[in-house]
Amino acid sequence: MEKSMGGDSRSNKAAVQATNDDASASKLSCVKKGYIKDDYVHLFVRRPVRRSPIINRGYFARWATFRKLLFQFLNSEPKSNEGHVKKQILSLGAGFDTTYFQLQDEGKAPHLYVELDFKEVTCKKATIIDTSAQLRVKISESASICRAYSLLFHVNDQVQECFHNLGDQRSVLSEKGEVISDHYKLLPIDLRDIQSLNDLILAHMDPSLPTFIIAECVLIYLDPDPSRAIVEWASRAFSTSIFFLYEQILPYDAFGQQMIRNLESRGCGLLGIYATPTLHAKEKLFLDQGWQRAVAWDMLKIYTSFIESQERQRIERLELFDEFEEWYMMQEHYCVTYAINDAMGMFEDFGFPKDQPVTVASTTASP
Ligand code: SAH
Repeated sequence: MEKSMGGDSRSNKAAVQATNDDASASKLSCVKKGYIKDDYVHLFVRRPVRRSPIINRGYFARWATFRKLLFQFLNSEPKSNEGHVKKQILSLGAGFDTTYFQLQDEGKAPHLYVELDFKEVTCKKATIIDTSAQLRVKISESASICRAYSLLFHVNDQVQECFHNLGDQRSVLSEKGEVISDHYKLLPIDLRDIQSLNDLILAHMDPSLPTFIIAECVLIYLDPDPSRAIVEWASRAFSTSIFFLYEQILPYDAFGQQMIRNLESRGCGLLGIYATPTLHAKEKLFLDQGWQRAVAWDMLKIYTSFIESQERQRIERLELFDEFEEWYMMQEHYCVTYAINDAMGMFEDFGFPKDQPVTVASTTASP
């Protein structure tokens, strides 16, 4: 019997974890077609698949938006401060995301990058990192990698001992599913357990540093109460921070209902979508939980008004594309919300262009 994600039969933990494998497979499909650059995602995909042009384009839009906002954050400095201030990234429900490794290659990695997920997922990720030389070199020399082999396959004491002796870089190996190094940490947690989340973060991060918090297709799978609690906790914990949220909206129309049914049939109920069904509700979620500012745009508006037009033109030439009606509908059902706490006064210029109205007519979205 699968463990439920809420008190709810529409969702189970293994199915929600599997959405991570789906995301990685889609990212790899985008890499292969030239939409995005990611030299590491192939290491996390067992069975590569080719996605349709509309899915590739959707993932490109998500990736380009995330990176543009992340780089704005990484380039922000306190007005009063001369020189560079240390920054960190916290990824909630990171899955097999490879951004840390990619940033390292680009010379853009922050002082610290922390990834959290269920233990089942972090165990698999830690094992893949540990067994790939390409990934291992990106983790600093002082790394200690702890894996939970027992969750994947049974390992007897003798084999455990071999792992202990494998190399100098791994000072600790245990059944924890953790990677701990100077600049990168992968840690297991159930995000709904706020007390443990808080303890874990205090043990591993300095909350006074400017922090970019990522929640991509994660909170929407939780019941509204734990989602709100996470947003409230993050606001309280990080006084200089950006919260980046990417997830679904508009559950009530025909497209939204179909989207919900599709995911429910796989055991991934969008448990949070009715509590924050609109752009306005997403902004309100953050403002009500103590964030100073919050802005939500749907992906249709973001695609036409935020993603670089050169990039758009480049990817629109990659594949034949004639699913325009569906593309517009799909993009209207996903959004990015960013919330800002700005104790250090460094995010005045952060975000989407300011003079845009909140809603966009779909006629402006023609390619
Ligand atoms: N953010 C990644 C992965 C999205 S898939 C990306 O965009 O590619 C959703 C991830 O959230 C899964 O890896 C799942 O295990 C994780 N997740 C969902 N609920 C969680 C919870 N309560 N605690 C920790 N991780 C959770």
